[in-house]
Amino acid sequence: MKFKNVKLETGFEYEEGEVIATKTGLFCIELENGKISKISANEPNSNAIDAKSYLMLPAFKDMHIHLDKTFYGDKWQAVRKRKGGVKGMIALEQQILPEILKNSTEKAEKLIELLQSKGTYFARSHVTIDPTAKLDALKNLQKAIDNKKNSFGTELVAFPQHGVYYTDSVPYLQEAAKMDIDFIGGVDPFSIDGAIEKTMDFTVQLAIDNKKGIDIHLHESGESGLKTIEYLIDKVNENPALKGKTYVSHAFVLGKLEKPKQEEIAEKLANAKVGIVSTIPFGGLIMPIPTLYKYNVEVMTGNDSIVDHWNTFGSGSVLQKTNLMAQLYGYSTEFLLSRALKLATVNVLPLDDNGKQQWPKVNDQANLVFVDASCSAEAVSRISDVKSLVYNGNIVY
Ligand SMILES: [Zn+2]
Repeated sequence: MKFKNVKLETGFEYEEGEVIATKTGLFCIELENGKISKISANEPNSNAIDAKSYLMLPAFKDMHIHLDKTFYGDKWQAVRKRKGGVKGMIALEQQILPEILKNSTEKAEKLIELLQSKGTYFARSHVTIDPTAKLDALKNLQKAIDNKKNSFGTELVAFPQHGVYYTDSVPYLQEAAKMDIDFIGGVDPFSIDGAIEKTMDFTVQLAIDNKKGIDIHLHESGESGLKTIEYLIDKVNENPALKGKTYVSHAFVLGKLEKPKQEEIAEKLANAKVGIVSTIPFGGLIMPIPTLYKYNVEVMTGNDSIVDHWNTFGSGSVLQKTNLMAQLYGYSTEFLLSRALKLATVNVLPLDDNGKQQWPKVNDQANLVFVDASCSAEAVSRISDVKSLVYNGNIVY
């Protein structure tokens, strides 16, 4: 497959040491066996697919979403008043999950199509494993993933939404860990299970025994939240196999710490290679994302909820999350906007910090998004329209 009139970033333009613009050019791009096979001078008259001067970027990744548990594609329903915190939500889920799971395969497929339309080719989806859903949410989602396997990539987190012990999810998690999943999940071990060590020890052991990663939800923002993160870091340091594949989703407690403590934890996270997956909250809670970046902690984002009983504001776009981050932390210059794009692409950027072209290269996997923008900085700032998505060398949107 060959594209012509593909806009690529080629360098920065400087004035008095400041990046004031991004240079681009038009090229031909050829794809073969799911990879980029050739990048060459543009041939506007060739018989190739016309990319119409749209900007080609690394396609996006949504690293925290619940594809299994959504109202998307079904009838509109706003969230209900929350009673009794997360435990109240667990009681609500025990009522409504059987209904949600009736058509969850179809809804997951529609949700995947929404993500594709926003330039996303890959998602890390949590999937509910508990005594209510048992393994049905996983089985239904695996059907959807199988139906979409030629157009979308996924990895799965076995997620005990209702606690490991609060409702007895242990046997289901053990079974799920032997199935086709990639991470063991978790949620607020202190407030749900009433025990940090017992729950985290189980989670860590299950991950090690089955050679999986870990990705736990942590909303707890007080002392227990901090203890959970520190305990997990210790466990990862004791079990180096978990380095680079352990994540804390949300980690709201980091936003509540004093600055020196934030720096200390950021450094510990970086050393243990524990990443943070943030949905970039705002309002009462601002996460210390710039501090995490300063210490080279792996930071990723996702939509989490699109439309469900937790939240109905998900756009499906990680470019929109990136825009939100840029606004919140003042990444407003050409240079800083261009760097911010790494949140959407999971650290792949067309230009390095010195403006040297580093993507695309021959043999790179052909996961590409075409946007109606003149450069990365504009795409982030304007949340530019996604025109097309290529997954493993095939046009899928
Ligand atoms: Zn979540």
